[in-house]
Amino acid sequence: MANVRLESIKRRFNNVTAIEDITFEIPDGEFWVLVGPSGCGKSTILRTIAGLENATSGNLYIGEQLVNNIPARQRDVAMVFQNYALYPHMSVAENIAFGMKMRKIDPKLIQQRVGEVARSLSLEHLLDRKPKQLSGGQQQRVALGRAIARQAQVFLLDEPLSNLDAQLRDDTRAELKQLHQALRNTTVYVTHDQVEAMTLADKIVVLNGGQIQQIGEPQTIYNQPTNRMVATFIGNPPMNILPAKFTANGFDVFGQILPVPLQMKGKFNLPTGKQVDLGIRPEYITISSNSSNSSNSLISVEVKVVEPLGRETLIRAGLAGSTETINIQAAGNVHPHPGEILNLALDLDYLFVFDTATGDKLY
Ligand code: ATP
Repeated sequence: MANVRLESIKRRFNNVTAIEDITFEIPDGEFWVLVGPSGCGKSTILRTIAGLENATSGNLYIGEQLVNNIPARQRDVAMVFQNYALYPHMSVAENIAFGMKMRKIDPKLIQQRVGEVARSLSLEHLLDRKPKQLSGGQQQRVALGRAIARQAQVFLLDEPLSNLDAQLRDDTRAELKQLHQALRNTTVYVTHDQVEAMTLADKIVVLNGGQIQQIGEPQTIYNQPTNRMVATFIGNPPMNILPAKFTANGFDVFGQILPVPLQMKGKFNLPTGKQVDLGIRPEYITISSNSSNSSNSLISVEVKVVEPLGRETLIRAGLAGSTETINIQAAGNVHPHPGEILNLALDLDYLFVFDTATGDKLY
């Protein structure tokens, strides 16, 4: 096992900068997840660590070794792709054994290792089958098994669960977590799936436009995002963003005034009239039974869409006087009607303020 260190890694493709000045170090045995919108450079980082891409500049270390010029097959990394790429003419056992065979490991040891890996992934009864005789989920597990069997220092996984249906995806995600707890391989995992990122990661790296936006533990990323991009990317439904103007009385949200929360007072010195984006997560908004807007942290909205999910109800509502919508996460027994006017109480302890122009967090 080994730590993985990227120092100012940059990758350009002609005039496209795929990743720019990426620097981080994954300690030995940790599970890091790369997330970000399509095209932000996740796969390029993974492929660079694997040695399938050459960095335009920067240094990459695996353990203490500088591996910039070490070819992929000598890097001792195992990679699992979204399309798993099993060898179709080989059985499951042969597929799992392949990497070890190439390394000329003692056949007895290979057999033993295939057995262990198959047991840990519940593949024992499928060892003689060919890939085309397996379901998508089983093929995915074989691809994982092939990577695990190699006992590589570093595991690189590029959306390995994206072809699975919802139930299998949940199960395999839990299996992956258990496997990592047992094996403790240094792992870099690329996904679009928030649940995977939040549940699997020791640390999440949020990327945008080839640059790191934030690196942190999942709860830190969720509760203390460093800017609007991270705040709105992590969380489902996403954090609400309300354009507002800073005034002497508070934040003016399309004519409705929200007071500046106590904990913010005196912390920043915004010029009156400054345009900001307020951020609040759907779970920190409650529907108030107070029909008059007497409490000044209430905001009036019109219900547009109601989505009952059983345990909770998602409500999309329109803000009076604007085209902005606001998502509310309400209890499962709350079912307002489209067109109904609601007064929302915003828990101002959980209010963020972002600079409209830069997206930087002001508070
Ligand atoms: P996705 O989530 O859609 O898989 P990603 O975050 O993994 O995207 P990358 O595949 O790393 O993004 O691509 C980053 C950027 O580099 C994109 O703008 C992409 O178009 C560009 N890019 C990647 N590979 C190449 C290539 N071989 N030639 C030219 N441009 C490339």
